[in-house]
Amino acid sequence: MTTNAKVTVAGAGALGLSCALALADAGFAVTVCDPGPALGNASAVAGGMIAPTFEAVLDAEATAHFDLLLAARDLWPALEARSGVSLDRTGALAAGRPEWLQQVATRLAGLGLHATEIPRRAAEELAPGLADGLGPVLLNREDWRLDPRAALQALTAAAVAAGVAFRSEAVRGRGDADLLVLATGAADLAALAPEMAALAPIKGHILRTPTPDLCSVTVRGEGVYVTPADAGLAVGATMEAGVADPRPDPAKAGPLLSAGARLFPALAGAAYELQAGVRAATPDGLPLVGFSQEPGVLLASGARRNGWLIAPLVAQVAAALAAGRDPGRYAARFDPARFS
Ligand SMILES: Cc1cc2nc3c(=O)[nH]c(=O)nc-3n(C[C@H](O)[C@H](O)[C@H](O)COP(=O)(O)OP(=O)(O)OC[C@H]3O[C@@H](n4cnc5c(N)ncnc54)[C@H](O)[C@@H]3O)c2cc1C
Repeated sequence: MTTNAKVTVAGAGALGLSCALALADAGFAVTVCDPGPALGNASAVAGGMIAPTFEAVLDAEATAHFDLLLAARDLWPALEARSGVSLDRTGALAAGRPEWLQQVATRLAGLGLHATEIPRRAAEELAPGLADGLGPVLLNREDWRLDPRAALQALTAAAVAAGVAFRSEAVRGRGDADLLVLATGAADLAALAPEMAALAPIKGHILRTPTPDLCSVTVRGEGVYVTPADAGLAVGATMEAGVADPRPDPAKAGPLLSAGARLFPALAGAAYELQAGVRAATPDGLPLVGFSQEPGVLLASGARRNGWLIAPLVAQVAAALAAGRDPGRYAARFDPARFS
């Protein structure tokens, strides 16, 4: 495809915006279409962790993809410089029962990594509100984070500056575009690209509290994380396989808050806002990125629980494929035809 061809990107989440910017930088005439929050946007409610190592350690499905997750993270500094998204690279802590922490350290070692056990006083500098009764704390400098809403704004601004047009409408077909990029997250669009049938929804609840002084880095605990996000803290997150309804369910707040309060007791009485998003997931946990069997359609959907982390890699592969360039060594693992 000639690089001044017309491309419509459906979806203005982390994947759609990253792809739009990469496609515009490759010379395409890009329009992003998204009708707005009515269809749900997982990127806006996410925790914002750029966490290849703790994800590979704590989420069994991510372990096999550790190399890919790390490669995606390593593309972030360039995207930060290109887009103005602000990354916090201080690192992340793990805190909890000594037996659990030992498991975490062992799994990190299995990935060839070494997390540093830090003294209580050093941990308190990063997380002053941490519960007294917790044992040792591990510091892992490989995991970073960003503020999702600020990142969406920065990516949008960078895309506009790069000449990307935005339209507030749902995409129902390729229209007059030479290429349609489906970055629509969990939307059910198998009619536009049959490979999308491989996606299943995983709903996630997350709490946001206006209590930023409890910690300045992400803290991972058993079955819960607390992370600075959007001028407060986010406490997340549930994984509700098969649930596609994006509306928050108030019954999910109590257990999340209790889990967060095991790490930070002050969360027990904190005010909060409950949010929910729906992640799109494939059976192997990696997204569908590549050409559909439907002519003129390229997929960039299904990032499961690491969409922010892998967005720059998805964008790099999508833009290379669209431009007819070598998409690199990870493209085969994203192949949309792998479940057909
Ligand atoms: C609670 C929670 C916490 C998370 N925490 C993290 C985290 O810490 N780190 C991380 O890396 N990931 C995290 N994730 C996962 C991450 O949010 C997702 O993988 C990522 O946001 C997916 O981005 P996306 O652009 O594919 O989809 P979305 O952000 O869902 O965007 C899809 C967009 O497509 C639009 N759309 C739908 N249909 C159409 C249509 N027909 N035409 C046009 N537009 C359409 C929607 O309106 C939406 O804006 C979390 C997810 C959840 C739910």
